Amino acid sequence: MTRCLLCEQQLERRPTWQGLLGIQKKQHLCEICSNSFQRADIIEEGNLLDSVHSLYEYNEAMREFFHQYKFLQDVALADVFAGELRSVLKEKIAVVPIPMHPDKRIERTFAHVEELLRSAVVPFLLLLEKTSTEVMGEKTREERLAMKPLFILQKHAVIEPITYTIVDDIYTTGTTLNQAAFVLKEAGAKRVEAVTLIRA
Ligand SMILES: [Zn+2]
Repeated sequence: MTRCLLCEQQLERRPTWQGLLGIQKKQHLCEICSNSFQRADIIEEGNLLDSVHSLYEYNEAMREFFHQYKFLQDVALADVFAGELRSVLKEKIAVVPIPMHPDKRIERTFAHVEELLRSAVVPFLLLLEKTSTEVMGEKTREERLAMKPLFILQKHAVIEPITYTIVDDIYTTGTTLNQAAFVLKEAGAKRVEAVTLIRA
């Protein structure tokens, strides 16, 4: 018996030809929960960060989803957007998740962005290292600008003149993504794109 990952309502299973052929996409949510997320596909372009593709709007359902996923540590929820992330990322040659500081990882028990990619079966490269545990959202613009770099390259990381795609859960001010793009470009990346689940 399969239940909706969010509301635990039992999922209806209607026999379909896709099911018979074994090519049906695995359902993780009931129709009501699934419809509560607002797909947006916002694409923004820039210089340092060449483009950002955000898949969803940050609405109430998304806020609740992330609360349950990140803070209540319900790692099973990584499956909810696996199909969507996979279809956007499967052709990318070098996917780089925004890393979590090691102390934060212990506190949260898992790295939420990496877990989203694992669920989506998207291979990724750990090229960046987070330098501090500070949270961007709690800072003013001035404080953000005065900060030391958020990321450094991982020891032994080799950056090639190719396109890298950085992945994060949420795109808010762009500080995090821009700093990550800066490190990769300075090390020789030709182009840096980003994919985020949400645009706040
Ligand atoms: Zn549901």
